[in-house]
Amino acid sequence: MAHHLSSAALQTFVASILRDCGSSAAEADTVAANLVLANLSGHDSHGVGMVPRYVDAVREGGLCPNKAVRITLDTGTLLALDGQCGYGQVVGAQAMDLGIARAQAHGSCIMTLSRAHHLGRIGHFAEMAVAQGLVSLHFVNVLSRPVVAPWGGGDGRFGTNPCCIGVPISGQDPFVLDFATSRVAQGKMRVAYNEGRKVEPGYLLDEHGRPTTDPGVVVVPQSQGLMGALMTFGEHKGFGLAMACELLGGALTGGGTWHQPADERRAVLNGMLTILIDPDRLGTRATFEDEAKAFFEWVRQSPPGAGHDGVLLAGEPERRARAERSVSGIPIDDTTWSELEQAATKARHLS
Ligand code: NAD
Repeated sequence: MAHHLSSAALQTFVASILRDCGSSAAEADTVAANLVLANLSGHDSHGVGMVPRYVDAVREGGLCPNKAVRITLDTGTLLALDGQCGYGQVVGAQAMDLGIARAQAHGSCIMTLSRAHHLGRIGHFAEMAVAQGLVSLHFVNVLSRPVVAPWGGGDGRFGTNPCCIGVPISGQDPFVLDFATSRVAQGKMRVAYNEGRKVEPGYLLDEHGRPTTDPGVVVVPQSQGLMGALMTFGEHKGFGLAMACELLGGALTGGGTWHQPADERRAVLNGMLTILIDPDRLGTRATFEDEAKAFFEWVRQSPPGAGHDGVLLAGEPERRARAERSVSGIPIDDTTWSELEQAATKARHLS
């Protein structure tokens, strides 16, 4: 049975756990609001269910409360930033504020962010940029247990490396494409496992590299303590994009790539390459928007395919979920709820 909570009640509860872990009231509120917004947007995998892991990461020292981004290079349109293992929801937003100001001043900005603790939903950062009329591209790697198998391989070698593209259109909702390069997000497997559900074929390999529909293979150790793996989306193409995210988000940012066996550490570090472009400064705002609107309209006119209600554009499912869940409340399954209560107890012992 799921608990249904209002976003305000959930945010208050989560913020109190984070304060007990040492965060300032402002930091706790920012992180809690970001996580609750992920739940509201329908992405429970990147919502408050991450808090038990954050509490463990603070206890282990891999996540450091009350950190700010440190500028390591600044040439105007090139910014290199170190997240100092601070909360990604905080250092990620600080990095975006800096990058957005540069793109507004110069027309574009290339910004690298290394050593951010879990950045959560990457679409959050694209939404910050499109709200200012900027196009925003993000390539992200994940330094944590390698849970995704390379195409043609049989065990996990890298993370769920998300990619995100935000496009603003004045007077209309933006296009916000934001996805993990794994066939499905790791956190969605945790949610499915907690709810006792099987998943579609084609998502998972078991600990021996064989296809399975059991989400437990990437959540709890299997035979001989081995773990299974997620598969990339789009076969070799998704694998290629996952590699690009590791190279751009990990190697190019200086945050590093993953090339070692799995360990038990609970921290999740992200590296992110962000490219921001101002269509006004590029001189194409009017054509860009006219063409984008004409293209959206054309695509939407496609008749519904079998088993579908019609075409949705990236960003619409999240906006629909927000409209619905802000009325009905946020469902939290029993396992996630008890994990949150245990995390609250652990956090009280830290304070
Ligand atoms: P997903 O599979 O739900 O895909 C989401 C994207 O597809 C969104 O842009 C959405 O608007 C679009 N979409 C969904 N259904 C659609 C439809 N029917 N028609 C058209 N467009 C549609 O998302 P995911 O891959 O499970 O990723 C979930 C979240 O996890 C993302 O926000 C991602 O940034 C985040 N993530 C974060 C990390 C990290 O380490 N920080 C790692 C992996 C994923």
